[in-house]
Amino acid sequence: MFDILIKNCCAVTMDNSRRIIDGCSIGIKDHLIMDVGRDVPENAEEIIDGSSCFALPGLVNCHTHVYQSLIKGVGYDMHFNPWNIRYLVPIISHMGPDHARASAELAALEMIKSGTTAFSDHWYLHTDFRNIEEVAAGFDRAGLRNHAVFGFLNESFAGRKNGNTEADVLKGEEQLLAQAERFVKTWNGRNLTTAALGPGSTEDVSRELFKEIIGLSRKLDVSVVTHISGWVEIVSRSLEKHHLRDFEYAHSLGFTGPRSIAIHCVWLSEEEIAIAAETGTMVVHNPVANMHLGYGIAPVPEMISRGVTVGLGTDGAASYTYDMFEIGKTAAMLQKVRTLNPEALTAEKALEMMTLDGAKVLGLDGLVGSIEKGKRADIILVKRGTPHLLKGGRPVPQIVYSTGGPDVITSIIDGIIVMRNREVLTLNEGEVLARAQNMRDELLKAGGNDTDMLLKAPWPAGKASWRMP
Ligand SMILES: [Zn+2]
Repeated sequence: MFDILIKNCCAVTMDNSRRIIDGCSIGIKDHLIMDVGRDVPENAEEIIDGSSCFALPGLVNCHTHVYQSLIKGVGYDMHFNPWNIRYLVPIISHMGPDHARASAELAALEMIKSGTTAFSDHWYLHTDFRNIEEVAAGFDRAGLRNHAVFGFLNESFAGRKNGNTEADVLKGEEQLLAQAERFVKTWNGRNLTTAALGPGSTEDVSRELFKEIIGLSRKLDVSVVTHISGWVEIVSRSLEKHHLRDFEYAHSLGFTGPRSIAIHCVWLSEEEIAIAAETGTMVVHNPVANMHLGYGIAPVPEMISRGVTVGLGTDGAASYTYDMFEIGKTAAMLQKVRTLNPEALTAEKALEMMTLDGAKVLGLDGLVGSIEKGKRADIILVKRGTPHLLKGGRPVPQIVYSTGGPDVITSIIDGIIVMRNREVLTLNEGEVLARAQNMRDELLKAGGNDTDMLLKAPWPAGKASWRMP
């Protein structure tokens, strides 16, 4: 007898032969997928009618900074610098454990309600070292599969520093390493959490600390994650300082390897792509954030054709969404435009990146990423028969190009139903929203004059006042 049976759905399995099974049933027991197919016995404690649904593996968001869920709408349409120094730092330097918890719960709600079941959060805001604990605890309560990256900033924040940054956001090397080790030992392998270590970037931590972090990640047997070659300036500064491009420099410090995750990789040279391929280094592409911040277009098809595994991420609130359907569609569209070739990144490849490849990047592909016997049951149901998702036609382009997060009606993570008919069962939505609203109001008030002027500024005539130098 199964715990849960999803009956008569159209299952897009993402298994080895990429079977798509109409009239499929999926039996789940003890957190695992026990049976998939047309002749699964109808014997379960709970039967979910899937006859008007696609069943998909849960979506995997390989990179975000959840604290930004509280500060959307401040400093938009700007490059990360000076957005970070002018608006972000004055606000986030007030981030305490209650704000951290509220940001995690709010992000969890948005992710669950748009079909994400596993994600990686890069948390470097140690204004209080309890912040990251509250975040991990929040995701644990939400029942999401969480790859929790303990972030490090000791030299600068996205390449910039001023008095405030140093006092509030940057921390000492020894303190960071000790806290990181403690965090990993507490959280790695606890329920659905895996932990990882994450230097902010090659220039946000010192050369010594970067090497220490790599060493610690190997000692603790966790992955190491950093932003690499996201914006063109970091490559030129790296060439000036180290006579190496950014990815080459990280490689020279021992960063690369199958447990290493390079975020962005917009400005990789052919040689750097070859290094990523040869070392098995994982890459995360954040197309919407890269577009929003004017970073450039990553050479994704080139990386994939060399054998690099590329997952997808939203990045922080700069992208204004946690909806991985939007990210998958944008990833495909962007490469078609860049290369003038509609085949450059297909719907099938985009769906692989949203599921299986994302799981591989986070080291979770042995557990999740596909609907097949023996894997943990991370499954979402997408409602069909609506005006934009009428039955018929090939499923994959409809999923990648026509589906949005709100079409996900049910979400199962690790064999537990976390959302049924759009109602999230692991969190009280009303309470989470009320708490997040309070915390958001408090943080925006703490942002000071610049934020206040931005929020009160009229519709911009010409260049917006808040973007003036
Ligand atoms: Zn990021």
